[in-house]
Amino acid sequence: MSRYWSALVHDLSPYTPGEQPRIANLIKLNTNESPLAPSPAVLAAIAGEATEALRLYPDPAATALREALATYHGLSADQVFVGNGSDEVLAHAFAGLLKHDAPLLYPDITYSFYPVWAQLFGVATEAVPLDADFRVRIADYRRPAGAIILPNPNAPTGTPLALAEIEALLRDHPAIPVVIDEAYVDFGAETAVPLIAAHPNLLVVRTFSKSRALAGLRVGYALGHRDLIEALTRVKDSFNSYPLGRPAQAGAIASVQDDAAFQAGLASIVATRGRMTAGLEALGFQVLPSAANFVFARHPAHGGADLAAALRGRAILVRRFNAPRIADHLRITVGTDGQTEALLSALAEILAA
Ligand code: PMP
Repeated sequence: MSRYWSALVHDLSPYTPGEQPRIANLIKLNTNESPLAPSPAVLAAIAGEATEALRLYPDPAATALREALATYHGLSADQVFVGNGSDEVLAHAFAGLLKHDAPLLYPDITYSFYPVWAQLFGVATEAVPLDADFRVRIADYRRPAGAIILPNPNAPTGTPLALAEIEALLRDHPAIPVVIDEAYVDFGAETAVPLIAAHPNLLVVRTFSKSRALAGLRVGYALGHRDLIEALTRVKDSFNSYPLGRPAQAGAIASVQDDAAFQAGLASIVATRGRMTAGLEALGFQVLPSAANFVFARHPAHGGADLAAALRGRAILVRRFNAPRIADHLRITVGTDGQTEALLSALAEILAA
């Protein structure tokens, strides 16, 4: 406890980022990074920014990137906001859009950064329990709310909502901000972007960290009505006018324009997810149907903490959680085929021991 801290900082319970150990030959399946390299076009675009121009500030509005994303999604550039990872975009949404007199609703098992931002920005919240199958039930959100945030697919469960369910949520709540966090949507869920035209209260948040294999570049974005985008821009310009450096802007543009590499990467991760799910089920795991680049699984006879520790002893990192209802579950990122084989044979050994 420091007497120099503000009362706010004393009270914070910060998010704990997933481990990023510097250990050689680690099989790292704990933070949902892509196992694939960024495409050569993306790497060339980033390298192309290593010039004397780095002495100059980047475009604070990231206009070229926002135009590329607008074209990609069939929107206009003033419907696109970009930031330093979707974490920053979401933080701005909490500061600028989600604080109202009535509580912000979100699932009780979800991205654990949401309650942290709510605390930081003084947003009143109400957590809505997942159903018995660990799914978000839209009918449970039919209650008074100041705003709503949901990931689709949800994390760490990986289960998707259908577009019709999100449409029903928007019909129930036409006049409050609704944020759909689509960090993992490319791996098999339906995007809510087509609903933006008819729903000016919908903000869709995306990231380059997962399906675009660029977690290290830190680029995220939001799509929505220009009024919502203006709110985020006002927060950004009151906080950090230059959230994206020149390499990040150039690399992200190249990624959006290299659709062939993007689609090929997605197809390979989805295929590996199928093999990983089948392999885990063959070992007796119960695996929730995943629309993400990770699976959420539990073994009826082995605790999550024990399994994670045993895997760690074999240099394989997976994610586990302390929340009571999911303490037995592991969230395992889809790696390469080789990493998946190593995971499955390590688990087979551990379960046989
Ligand atoms: N939303 C969800 C649901 C996530 O799991 C993550 C990754 N931890 C993020 C947002 C943030 O990702 P990034 O800041 O890398 O874009």
